[in-house]
Amino acid sequence: MSLIDHTHRPDALSWVASANAADTDFPIQNLPYGLFRRAGSNESARVGIAIGEQILDLKLAAAAGKWSSAVQVLLQPLADGDLNTFMAQPSAQRRLLRHAIFEALLEGSKQQAALSACLLPQAAAQMAVPCRIGDYTDFYTGIYHATTVGKLFRPDNPLLPNYKWVPIGYHGRSSSIGVSGGTVRRPLGQLMPPGAEAPVRAACKRLDHELELGLFVAGGNALGEPIAMEDADEHMFGVTLLNDWSARDMQGWEYQPLGPFLAKNFATTISPWIVSMDALEPFRTAFAHPESDPQPLPYIDSAKNRAEGGYQIELEVWLQTEAMRAKGESATRLMRSNFKHAYWTLAQMLTHHASNGCNLQPGDLLGTGTQSGPEANEGGSMLELSNGGKQVLTLPNGETRSFLLDGDAVGLRAYAVHEGARRIGFGECVATIVPAPSL
Ligand code: MN
Repeated sequence: MSLIDHTHRPDALSWVASANAADTDFPIQNLPYGLFRRAGSNESARVGIAIGEQILDLKLAAAAGKWSSAVQVLLQPLADGDLNTFMAQPSAQRRLLRHAIFEALLEGSKQQAALSACLLPQAAAQMAVPCRIGDYTDFYTGIYHATTVGKLFRPDNPLLPNYKWVPIGYHGRSSSIGVSGGTVRRPLGQLMPPGAEAPVRAACKRLDHELELGLFVAGGNALGEPIAMEDADEHMFGVTLLNDWSARDMQGWEYQPLGPFLAKNFATTISPWIVSMDALEPFRTAFAHPESDPQPLPYIDSAKNRAEGGYQIELEVWLQTEAMRAKGESATRLMRSNFKHAYWTLAQMLTHHASNGCNLQPGDLLGTGTQSGPEANEGGSMLELSNGGKQVLTLPNGETRSFLLDGDAVGLRAYAVHEGARRIGFGECVATIVPAPSL
């Protein structure tokens, strides 16, 4: 059953004028959730909804708006800055709030007078990590990334035999997840210089980004009780951009036998706005493995997943170096790809994660793995774009990069576009690299 409804109508307009701009990420069809406070204030954080260049402050809106009692109950934890309680609601309740906010922000709404005073320009807000992220897991669903990186680490055996059977992942660390707009400190670590007999402790020399999406879990499952593929959508709340910062030299030395550890857990950056699964409904697409590949085992297969388990989301990486910033030059785009290339769907990641009885909880974050496109210039990391550091990229201002340097600001962007649907965007996921601590 399609869940596309009047809130997806491409011609719907808002009384918030900036939401009607053709190039806005946040038209009335989007309505993503974020956590914020007024920049420079000591006020408590509250959940807001991005609309055009504004934020609808749900603390103010809960008090000033006219809402049904069912909607008022949903708004209360959001007014108190608690997104997790709302995430745990059944999808029908989450959709009820989407519909109420849509009506309230729609052109001609009777709520306009009351809610006009509940807006804050996004430029005046300080965003925070949007919810309590209890656990963070990072998958590896980008098959072009897995193949290219596999070739660099294991030239004879790039894609391990389990790749086409199991949605591969590792458990990451939620404490170092930060929101867009901050800095990332270059990590210190154990490195094995080429040809050396023993490792050294030094600042990472091969600092990299990874272009990923992050799926936030809605309602969880009880320990010991797997989630069926048919129920996966019910457990999905929404999606952000995610940069899985990676120290490639540390990774090469430490990753066997137990996988990523300190090469990954020093920083992860996410975009501040969680785009709900409801907003992404028009951008679903059919999903299949190539016929010559193994087909998914039944527990991660379903008719719905084959019909519409994929999502068409355009993805981009942008770089602004310190020199570019000093001269007022805007960021340059490094690559583009699309999430439709992912080898496993969001539903398969989630279902596989819980398939052993592992309990997912509201607010848990599942990274998709680096989403590279099929072409060499569509790598979602510097490791791919520089062919393992063997080639340099020349930027428009003449600077070169094989990996990231201090002062570089890496920005991820994404937007969903489909014929007959209003384009929606994800905002920005940017962070600037600062030097390592002194040894
Ligand atoms: Mn990753």
